[in-house]
Amino acid sequence: MATHNSSAAELVAQLGRLGVPMGAVVVVHTSFKAVGPVEGGPAGLVAALTEALGSAGTLVMPAMADDDETPFDPASTPCIGMGVVAETFRRLPGVRRSDNPASFAARGPLAAAIVAPHPLAPPHGIDSPVGRADALGGFVLLLGVGHSENTTLHLAEAVAGVPYHVRKWATVLRDGVPARVEYDETDHCCRGFARADEWLRARGLQREGTVGRATARLMRASDLLGVAVPVLLGDPCALLHARDAGCDECDAAWASIP
Ligand SMILES: [Zn+2]
Repeated sequence: MATHNSSAAELVAQLGRLGVPMGAVVVVHTSFKAVGPVEGGPAGLVAALTEALGSAGTLVMPAMADDDETPFDPASTPCIGMGVVAETFRRLPGVRRSDNPASFAARGPLAAAIVAPHPLAPPHGIDSPVGRADALGGFVLLLGVGHSENTTLHLAEAVAGVPYHVRKWATVLRDGVPARVEYDETDHCCRGFARADEWLRARGLQREGTVGRATARLMRASDLLGVAVPVLLGDPCALLHARDAGCDECDAAWASIP
């Protein structure tokens, strides 16, 4: 079968069928490989997302630093670990990027508010790009990735006050001098985030479809918090693998609980 390159028009139509609303704030996590060939490559996918949102919409993507050793510079620090679409997006004209190793990038009318200075810890709390996207009525769009890539679930952990954390560090410039700073992050393997599918589906709060070749999920950030926070308040470790189940990252999170 010949390889079909998805055109911008096809992608915009698919995004519309999924329910991506014009004029919305949308945080996008994506795997370009899963979306498949797109006319114009990763930039073509960004253009289609931008067109689907219209000029009143604000597109947001993760732009977290690839390494902890080099001082973070929003103008130049790569974020290829977030995927080629995110790395492409942060370099495009008009895109703003927060000055924080746990960076996000945004373009659109609400971009400046979303990427305003945010504290190093918690990296994804209420006062962070994903927290602000939620406060602004934002949506989360997962294109070819599942909830394990959904940073807004770390926001749910922050809101619920989960008791686990791991010690992280980053390098930032202080008065022009590289400085190592340590902070706590509610991190683990994140595979337990996949449980959000059942929580959202049971309430009809997740739209699912296809964009390019990828499975796409769309939800309001507030709906995700609305289902995840009560679960975490009832069982603060609901998103971790069971203790000693063979997951080193979750075991590290368990070991951090006072
Ligand atoms: Zn785990």
